[in-house]
Amino acid sequence: MKDHILIKNLEFYAHHGVYEYETREGQRFIVSARLFTGLSDSGESDRLEETVHYGQVSEFLVSFLTEHTYKLLEKAVQSCMEAVMLEFPLLDGIELTLQKPDAPIELEFETVAVTRTMYRHTAYIGLGSNMGDRQALIRAALQAVQQHPLCRVREVSDLIETEPYGGVPQDNFLNGAAEVETLMEPARFLAFLQKLEKEAGRVRTVKWGPRTLDLDILLFDDLIMGTRDLILPHPDMENREFVLQPMAQIAGFVRHPVSKKTMQQLLDELKSRQ
Ligand code: ADP
Ligand code: MG
Repeated sequence: MKDHILIKNLEFYAHHGVYEYETREGQRFIVSARLFTGLSDSGESDRLEETVHYGQVSEFLVSFLTEHTYKLLEKAVQSCMEAVMLEFPLLDGIELTLQKPDAPIELEFETVAVTRTMYRHTAYIGLGSNMGDRQALIRAALQAVQQHPLCRVREVSDLIETEPYGGVPQDNFLNGAAEVETLMEPARFLAFLQKLEKEAGRVRTVKWGPRTLDLDILLFDDLIMGTRDLILPHPDMENREFVLQPMAQIAGFVRHPVSKKTMQQLLDELKSRQ
């Protein structure tokens, strides 16, 4: 297992539960956390500033879980993890377990617990627009990503003018790529990007038609996956200059997890094929 700090069985009194008397009277809860963060710097230097302060995290956990009230342990854990990850930027990830030892079950039992994990991810997204004020649409989308509490835009490429791809006659595109740090899982991140596409489309539908903004997930950490709705890395990215050129600019040394080639290499190879 990776480096982590363990906070085990921190007890407190709070008001989570489905039943009315649970939220009214409250009961005992126990929280445990694994704080994933590199510990080699602090292990070397012996300096508190270089690590995550477990005392501060403990107090934060208890304050958060006593000040908020949720019906489900799942929701309490999810909200708490998000808050901790936002509060402590040195954390790469967290595993949180919330126990309810006096849960309303009319049987002999020791405890009930929900455990979940959350990690900080690096995603690269492809940006495209060929209708309306293309630059403004892309800028607005990036601003919306930046304003989402679970996302930070780390880097944005230049926007380049490109010929349409795929043979459908239409106006030139403006394309780019951005590096985004996110606490969302891939499906939720895609749904968020699709909501932005839809909002941009809706504004322009009457005047310009439907295709105002295209936001694709190009890479998501080193993840390789395929479902009906989401394929990672983005299929066909190695054949698209309008993807690879901006990626080479902001992530030239990042490797495609399947071919293991860098973005710069993929761009060079594509150009030499053409
Ligand atoms: P394209 O981006 O290829 O021009 P669309 O944006 O219209 O075409 O395609 C969107 C569809 O592709 C969505 O239904 C989405 O579920 C699916 N999809 C699969 N993998 C990805 C990905 N990595 N990023 C974005 N959309 C994806
Ligand atoms: Mg798309």
